[in-house]
Amino acid sequence: MDGRLLSQRINLVRPWLKKKFGGPVSKVSLDAHLGCPNRDGALGTKGCIFCPPAGAGKGEHQATLEEQLKKGITKLHQSALYRKKPIPHILAYFQAYTSTHAACDHLKTIYNQALSHEEIEGLIISTRPDCLGEPRWQLLRELRQKKSLLWLELGLQSADDKTLQAISRGHDLNCFHEAVEKARSLEIPVVAHVILGLPGETREQTTKTADYLAQINIWGVKMHNLMVLEHTALAREWQNGGFIPWTREQWVQAAVLFLAHLSPQTLVHRLSADPGPDLLLAPDWVRNKDKNLNSLGQEMARQDIRQGDKCLVRAQIF
Ligand code: SF4
Repeated sequence: MDGRLLSQRINLVRPWLKKKFGGPVSKVSLDAHLGCPNRDGALGTKGCIFCPPAGAGKGEHQATLEEQLKKGITKLHQSALYRKKPIPHILAYFQAYTSTHAACDHLKTIYNQALSHEEIEGLIISTRPDCLGEPRWQLLRELRQKKSLLWLELGLQSADDKTLQAISRGHDLNCFHEAVEKARSLEIPVVAHVILGLPGETREQTTKTADYLAQINIWGVKMHNLMVLEHTALAREWQNGGFIPWTREQWVQAAVLFLAHLSPQTLVHRLSADPGPDLLLAPDWVRNKDKNLNSLGQEMARQDIRQGDKCLVRAQIF
């Protein structure tokens, strides 16, 4: 992939991180074995229709947190030495499932366990907007003061309540909105997770989601393209012919539109999802990430579009 095509037109987080830390930055992805309240009955039992039982994220489900931390840090150091590159600054990424779904004392222990490694320079916590609440917010505030960087990743997926209901998210837009406002009051940056191509969504909902995120001046965004994975409700719908995934061209057009409507200040942390090779059923084109990102870059160049070119609230931001 020619990264220049994208970095010239999109406000990518990687250069921002490199500047902030003065060198390359990598993450150690962690699974703290906290489960998901949208599956275990705390908030729901069905889970989101696109999510397999193993949950979102790439943590190592069997290893202890300490094993994951040590292995992740060692791997990054060895890889840098092998490639004769600078050792990266490392962030601990609590990624799998819902990483605030536990009692506060336990959360405090596991987050501090990560921070106790001197190589860990920051914390990323991924969760649902309805799995926070005052004690957890206060814990996040304390943690934010310990290291140079802490950000929160919140699943939104779509700004359309009908879609959120259809995909069994178990929360609405207002819930997400309130969580972002609270985080902002505590000066905790938020990255919103968004999925393009959800059932029933068209250019209209894609634009609506981007416009909403621009309106609230979200700090960061992770874009995912919808994938049909095995053992999900979406897979059953796809197998019955009730759901047809977008083509690569549809995704490219939607991604260009989304980025054009986003604020130019928002940091883009991800442009497309990484398919788990074992679970992916459809669409097949998502396997070729380089080609997908190249197509996106080429289409942005062809339309001469940059992130934020169609942002409706740019005047208020600057
Ligand atoms: S996407 Fe997140 S909230 Fe939804 S079922 Fe999976 S782990 Fe739970």
